Amino acid sequence: MNAPLDLLLTGAIALTGEANSLIDDAAIGIRDGRIVHLAPACEPCPEARRTLHLPGRLITPGFVNAHLHAVLVMVRGVAADLGFAPSYTPGVPKGTDATPEEARALARLGAVEALLSGSTLVCDHFVHAEATLDAIAELGLRVHAGWRVHDVDFSRVAQGEWRFDAAIGEDLLRRTLDLHDRWHGARDGRIQVQMAAHAPDTCSPGFLRTIAAEASARGMRVNTHLAQSRVEVERITAATGLSPAALLEETGLLNDRLLATHCLYVDEADIARLARAGAHAVHVPKCNAASGRLAPTPALKAAGVNLALCTDTQHGDMVEAMRWALATARIQQGGVTADWQPADVFRMATLGGARAVGMADEIGTLAVGKKADLVVFDTRRPHLRPLVNPLGTLVHTGQGRDVEMVLVDGETLVEDGRPVRADLEQICIEADKAARALWARA
Ligand SMILES: [Zn+2]
Repeated sequence: MNAPLDLLLTGAIALTGEANSLIDDAAIGIRDGRIVHLAPACEPCPEARRTLHLPGRLITPGFVNAHLHAVLVMVRGVAADLGFAPSYTPGVPKGTDATPEEARALARLGAVEALLSGSTLVCDHFVHAEATLDAIAELGLRVHAGWRVHDVDFSRVAQGEWRFDAAIGEDLLRRTLDLHDRWHGARDGRIQVQMAAHAPDTCSPGFLRTIAAEASARGMRVNTHLAQSRVEVERITAATGLSPAALLEETGLLNDRLLATHCLYVDEADIARLARAGAHAVHVPKCNAASGRLAPTPALKAAGVNLALCTDTQHGDMVEAMRWALATARIQQGGVTADWQPADVFRMATLGGARAVGMADEIGTLAVGKKADLVVFDTRRPHLRPLVNPLGTLVHTGQGRDVEMVLVDGETLVEDGRPVRADLEQICIEADKAARALWARA
């Protein structure tokens, strides 16, 4: 006789992300943090200590937000109109301007927002990772974090000067490796540490080789910005004769542990390189579209590159990111095609992200044996009725703020749309205060 379930969810529609993707009136049984029962409610089901009956709801796997800088909520409403990343732009506060306490307050806001809109895993990188990693992890979601690693002197980049300093690189690399020693696998494995190599133009080729060697020795994922700007491509081509992707290949970084974020300026040869290496492209549809440029996602997908999805410096709503990913692919294709449908962007937000972070066996779909990372959407709201096609409705009219519950490892982290482990009002007040102080100093 099986031990009783810790939790049984009934009455909702489940979008599993697996081949038999939709279960009407599903019964989802959770024990010891894992899904142990997933079937239509009419089938026999083990006893449960607690049952939640959720009619009018839609349950999906948790979203993997594969590239985020939670601290950058400080440039919310501004960054999208700068034409480039804040780090490269004069006159706006930088992560380096924040104290660890300010970074902590800002990161908690960025992360709680991602959690409230259904992200169960965020890859978060920036300065002050030592302070922000724990602040994010306290909310309960999975965080794969890292220091922003580069050997350029970032204080001069906004003035158009790329000056490399080996001491800067050594310091940031040491901080990353210390973070890895201290945190990788902590909090029941919810914390992992990635090598957040900033970008091919802010890391010198020699430093890229060092990063590749250190990451390889520890089996670390490398999360980088790739082909993010024309400036990056021009600088690298002038200095090395290579494209940014070719430079990563040449320095040993292009492999199946690489998460290449943006991929805006990649050509056919670069796309073939990414596919050959088994690297993952992390798509930032909303940031990129707002900046007036689209990543060639149809070509990347056709070449077989795994696509993940993220919100980067924009607000952390992965439902909206799915919608933008679908629209921006179709704009490039000139119409609606069979290979860009709601299921494709849903996969990017879930299993594609899980593959990118190396956890496809554990998360990314709802399946017996996988970790119970899931999201409950309240579909009783007028914009989600009638629910003729749940997946199409979620992708085309859903919002992150339709999320009612979020579970990680079967633990409820969001209930009634509010974080369980933190005081939301307090998070907002502290982040507001930190942002005001930063802007005043900038
Ligand atoms: Zn970024």
